[in-house]
Amino acid sequence: MDHNLKKEIIQYAKILEAQGLVNPLEGNISILDRTAGELYITPSGTRKTLLTEDMIAVMKGEQQIGGTRKRSSEYLLHEAALRARPDCNAVVHAHAPYLTAYAYCNKSINIRCSTTFGLFFGDIPCLPYGEPGTVHIADGIEEAMKEHELILLANHGCVCIGKTMENAVSILEAAEAVMKIYQMAKTVGEISDLSPEQWEQLGNNHPGRKSTVLHR
Ligand SMILES: [Zn+2]
Repeated sequence: MDHNLKKEIIQYAKILEAQGLVNPLEGNISILDRTAGELYITPSGTRKTLLTEDMIAVMKGEQQIGGTRKRSSEYLLHEAALRARPDCNAVVHAHAPYLTAYAYCNKSINIRCSTTFGLFFGDIPCLPYGEPGTVHIADGIEEAMKEHELILLANHGCVCIGKTMENAVSILEAAEAVMKIYQMAKTVGEISDLSPEQWEQLGNNHPGRKSTVLHR
């Protein structure tokens, strides 16, 4: 068992909980040790601020081989995401409010008013509903995560992947911040979108921007 990975999970779970992006009953994060084939994941139903190393669940395939608390049933989400992305090792499943509001409406996010959104996301697709606690929770994730680091799960929350936990959490925080501002902007006045030409040029002029943040 890797103490550093457990420490890293606890550190980032606390960061996410302090920001209200996960809570004691919603959200979980994991890191895959690809050499050992072991997935380290937060246990279900636990306040993240109170997590200790011995509580972190360690999974080898379907089996829990470590941790005093039961792994979240949502580990299937994490496994599907990690299968889709051999370049990534960390997964955040969060219930970030501004992003999850779209999931509750079964809406993908395709805004064109934010350069941050253009550089890092382009779009955030919403997958069809899959019942939590069943295998259907992971339906469609593998396919969607091949093209996207952040996706929405209808009527549920969001999933984000990165090479490291810092990458995955940064991406999630940036997306949540953008969507929060987007809601505020709508109350300020009329949203001003970039033109299709400006949008395309933004992507063309910064081709490596996304991957440097994701993989640094
Ligand atoms: Zn969830």
